[in-house]
Amino acid sequence: MPDLPDSCDILIAGGGNAALCAAIAAAQTGRRVLVVEAAPKFYRGGNTRHTRNMRCAHDSATDTLSGPYREDEFYDDLLRVTDGNTNQRLARMMVRKSADMLGWIQAQGVRFQPSLGGTISLGRTNSFFLGGGRAMLNALYRTASRLGVRFIYDSPVVGLDIRDGRFHAARVLHNGNEQVIRAGAFVAASGGLQGDTDWLREGWGKKADNFLIRGTPYNRGTLTRMLIEAGMMQIGDPTQCHAVAIDARAPKFDGGIITRLDCVVLGVVVNKHSQRFYDEGEDIWPKRYAIWGRLVADQPDQIAYVIFDAPNIERFMPSLYPPIRGETIAGLASELGLDPAALEATITGFNDAVQGGQPFDTSEPDGNRTVGLKIDKTNWAQRIETPPFYAYPVRPGITFTYLGVKVDDRARIVMADGRASDNMYAAGEIMAGNVLGQGYAAGIGMTIGSVFGRIAGTEAARHDT
Ligand SMILES: Cc1cc2nc3c(=O)[nH]c(=O)nc-3n(C[C@H](O)[C@H](O)[C@H](O)COP(=O)(O)OP(=O)(O)OC[C@H]3O[C@@H](n4cnc5c(N)ncnc54)[C@H](O)[C@@H]3O)c2cc1C
Repeated sequence: MPDLPDSCDILIAGGGNAALCAAIAAAQTGRRVLVVEAAPKFYRGGNTRHTRNMRCAHDSATDTLSGPYREDEFYDDLLRVTDGNTNQRLARMMVRKSADMLGWIQAQGVRFQPSLGGTISLGRTNSFFLGGGRAMLNALYRTASRLGVRFIYDSPVVGLDIRDGRFHAARVLHNGNEQVIRAGAFVAASGGLQGDTDWLREGWGKKADNFLIRGTPYNRGTLTRMLIEAGMMQIGDPTQCHAVAIDARAPKFDGGIITRLDCVVLGVVVNKHSQRFYDEGEDIWPKRYAIWGRLVADQPDQIAYVIFDAPNIERFMPSLYPPIRGETIAGLASELGLDPAALEATITGFNDAVQGGQPFDTSEPDGNRTVGLKIDKTNWAQRIETPPFYAYPVRPGITFTYLGVKVDDRARIVMADGRASDNMYAAGEIMAGNVLGQGYAAGIGMTIGSVFGRIAGTEAARHDT
């Protein structure tokens, strides 16, 4: 294992997209940058390994984007998914700067490809990484290495020396020993806290025990806690997060994208009592899919079942696990351990309420709805009547949490008394709550990390050692 230097110009804690964007931006100014990553090399880059795309504003179509997505539309989408619960100044700035990121990130070696089909209608708004998140990360690591950035793996930051809002040094656990590293500036890019079930339990209670974590187990919020305890301003609470419904058979950590299910719009979703509990047709998938993790979290035992019939099996990207199948609704219920009579009653009631009449089209709200149910399905309602019938069991899959530290528009961490830290910056999940008070739109996680990472690196590079 390489030895740790005892000082550098800029110390960055992390190893994902936010850390790498900061590292590259800082190293481009000639600074000595050291990145300490808690995970071993194979697992470097936390949640970024799992990503596929990034949402950036652009004025016209490109080789890989099917049309314009202007700043105003991006900003409106952000306001809509967060219900206005965002720092509007930071959000505006991020949206504006996202337009530059498309070119900047490609200049660092990242390549894009056109989006795939299916129910993911993102071809106009989101740029997809050729080869996925790991290829994207590898390109950033290569560029950063060429610029002289040093990486030390398996080495979490375990302590901070902060005096009056100024960073002096960090304690890093390396080879079983704690070592002090001094730096002129510090960038915290260590992700969310979702890997720490105890912390999730503080917000969610015992429900948290049934949550699955879609990404890295290394994002445990350790640095977030240290910063808050050292007097930095907390933003968000432990219940705020991006959570989607994922296959209940997924592993506790790192199941990634292949356990996600985006077939909610194609059928109905019932809880363990075979009751529907929310409008499955509320909005098109990319804008509303992130609510389903929270919805399932509020159901008994945090479990639910997506039910649909034969014509829909080809209409979405399947999970890693096969769907559970039954020749009848009652037979399917038995396979799922649900009461057959209760599920039959729910499906029959739903089928009787379907109005339909419009061409079925999942790319936009199609007006095919039910009428007269306690909870109507307001789009894409179709009778569930053609065997075989299918189901996927789903649980809340936490992508990342929004509790973090407050930053200003220079990515400086803001202290509890409202003053900005002199030389501490944050980027990525650890400060996502500044922009995402609640809700999510696909691809914004990478926008936050890239835009604020680049700003943090540029600003950190202004400091002398
Ligand atoms: C399955 C999945 C799919 C996703 N798909 C997308 C997508 O397509 N588009 C999108 O925009 N977003 C997506 N996201 C969200 C996206 O991954 C994150 O928003 C983004 O990667 C966050 O980047 P980051 O650098 O802040 O965190 P990460 O990439 O998670 O990096 C944080 C790093 O910090 C390290 N670390 C933790 N604690 C310490 C410590 N104490 N000291 C040192 N290092 C530490 C971790 O090991 C980790 O490598 C997805 C997430 C998941 C889980």
